Amino acid sequence: MSQRTGHTVGSVSPTLDLVPRLGSPGDVAQRRKWVAERTDTALGHVGHHSLDTESVRGNIENLIGAAQTPLGIAGPLLVKGESSERVHYVPLATTEGALVRSFERGMVVLTRSGGVTSRVIIDENSITPVFGFDGIVAASSFVQTLPDLFDDVRMVAEATTRHGKLVRLEPRLIGRDVYVRFVYHTADAHGMNMIMRATDAACRWLMTRAAARRYYVITGACSEKRSGGTALAGGKGKTVVAEAIVPAFLLKQYLRVTPIMMLDMWHRTMLGQAAANVAGYNGHLANGLTALFIACGQDVANVANAATGLTAFDLTVGGDLYINVTLPSLTVGTVGGGTHLATSHECLGMLGCAGTGGARRFAEIAAATVLAGELSMGAAIASGEMAAAHEAYGRNRPEERNPVHRAAAAEVEVRV
Ligand code: NAP
Repeated sequence: MSQRTGHTVGSVSPTLDLVPRLGSPGDVAQRRKWVAERTDTALGHVGHHSLDTESVRGNIENLIGAAQTPLGIAGPLLVKGESSERVHYVPLATTEGALVRSFERGMVVLTRSGGVTSRVIIDENSITPVFGFDGIVAASSFVQTLPDLFDDVRMVAEATTRHGKLVRLEPRLIGRDVYVRFVYHTADAHGMNMIMRATDAACRWLMTRAAARRYYVITGACSEKRSGGTALAGGKGKTVVAEAIVPAFLLKQYLRVTPIMMLDMWHRTMLGQAAANVAGYNGHLANGLTALFIACGQDVANVANAATGLTAFDLTVGGDLYINVTLPSLTVGTVGGGTHLATSHECLGMLGCAGTGGARRFAEIAAATVLAGELSMGAAIASGEMAAAHEAYGRNRPEERNPVHRAAAAEVEVRV
């Protein structure tokens, strides 16, 4: 008889069938066995990994193993950053066929063109609590007194962290509520845990000075893990800009397009995205950022804000292609979160960004990486090769797992 009880509505109350709360590393296998039995599913692959189960405390609960994502490498990519000029090979974890090849060809063209210049323009992270008042008089009075309280608020907040620095407070009154954006410098950490703790301490202190009835430490108004207006305006994380000039002859030689074809593509796809009410404009920032985030232990849900950005193409005076990308809300870190996990640490190491002192460089590389993706995808659309590239690299019809079908698929002309 099947032990698949978890899905049986009516026979077993879901509230009684809780995942076992177990404590030691050996218990992970026990929990996995518990799930395998309840779901009639062999979990050999889920259980087969090199993660030190103790090392993931603070990263996950109810551990049963690891989900594995294939890891590819794309490059060479010459990044001309603020403090270093270096050729990188960028680790990308994905299941989207054609993605790594596409980024690779963009990187090769950009590197042959002289590389990508990349800069972190703003280096902050923010969180926006709300204070609830009885009416607009008390609320507006709070807004007025906030500047006078700043030094004390900063002292209280910074007492909770060695690296976090409160830079400013931006209050906004909506009805009788005051939303206060707390803006921090978070050094090499993504910083969300860091600044939530600091802000909660500051809010508790402010409650002793204000006539607010209550506060909620997080509202989502800072665009954490959200796309949209504030993310596009630069409300979350680092603002990073990357640019390059691609000579027309290299465009023709490697990507089979002209600068004019690229501008025509840009014009029409931009109109399409405007008509769809998309926040910002880009080819596929989410693709490169997701793959890089998975590889390097970033919080992947932050792609929602990080991929809200703008890509621009232009002609140079000499008739070559100018391209840039702006990532207004890039939330990344090289310390904390998932960056210490063994595979993340290795991937950050490949980029020379692991640990202290790596975050700004990592942000520059991230922007240069997605610039390559924008160039490559833009060219694939402009040249009409987009579908063929995905047919050649990115299909996994179950029947094509059969070697005979695979051989047939390999005959598709590959032009990337
Ligand atoms: P964390 O792993 O919670 O903390 C990292 C800590 O590393 C910092 O607080 C800091 O301690 C310390 N540190 C050591 N060297 C540092 C350096 N060179 N630069 C900066 N910090 C250094 O990570 P986090 O970055 O604060 O938070 C990221 C995590 O928050 C991610 O895992 C993400 O999934 C999660 N997250 C949380 C929320 C939330 O609402 N709380 C929301 C979204 C995501 P000190 O503070 O003592 O300086």
